[in-house]
Amino acid sequence: MRRFKLAGGNGEMFWLEGDEFRHLTTVLRLGAGARIVGFDGDRSYVGIIAGIEDGRAWCRVESTLAATGEPAAAVYLALGLLKGDKMELALQKGVELGMAGFIPLAAARSVARPDERRQETRRARREKIAAAAVKQCGRIRAPEIFPTSEWKDLPDLLPRDTRYFLAWEEEKKRSFRAELAGVDWARPLAILIGPEGGFTRAEAMAATVELKATPVSLGARILRAETAALAALTMALGAAGDLG
Ligand code: SAM
Repeated sequence: MRRFKLAGGNGEMFWLEGDEFRHLTTVLRLGAGARIVGFDGDRSYVGIIAGIEDGRAWCRVESTLAATGEPAAAVYLALGLLKGDKMELALQKGVELGMAGFIPLAAARSVARPDERRQETRRARREKIAAAAVKQCGRIRAPEIFPTSEWKDLPDLLPRDTRYFLAWEEEKKRSFRAELAGVDWARPLAILIGPEGGFTRAEAMAATVELKATPVSLGARILRAETAALAALTMALGAAGDLG
């Protein structure tokens, strides 16, 4: 069944409007009697289209779906700015993997530089990518998408009890897998991944002091940043019992 972000509802009826209405009526050409899933930030419903008028599609709720596709664990990804569409790839896959928030990081070695003028359009595009991934994968809530920030901003952006891990390819003792075994999943967790050129030693050392970030290895091979981001998210959500 096709899934749509609902615009409003009262438990017995819900309705679609805007882009979701256009997708339903002009792209998919669904009409009265069709069965769809409507979701909001809290739950999802199976509904039957009862009427279409004035840019709204009204659906009668047939049942409320228990599973929401939302992970219990809150895992944030802070990713050094990457060139091209690699940020958007990591964002889309991060939504599917269940991340709670996405923070583009302006790191010292980021080749891509934050562009103030394009910040808003870029953020709107990222929100659109996230919304489409939420629909596709069965989540009901999009991860929070933050503006491009510095790692020093993270304590102001993320919950106070967030536990930080910094993926550091020079770390030879602590493995992320072993560290995850001891994580208290009641606390949010944030993973910092460097840009193509990696974190500088100074950045890594400062993050371990100021964020109390634990430097961790993701294994013996050097992963591309976008690969490292998705591997780390998979490891974390897997360890939290949310994946697999
Ligand atoms: N210094 C790397 C090199 O020599 O190619 C460049 C950085 S790597 C492409 C991008 C980021 O992925 C790193 O900053 C780190 O956060 C993460 N990363 C990649 N492989 C890793 C590993 N084996 N252990 C921990 N982090 C890794």
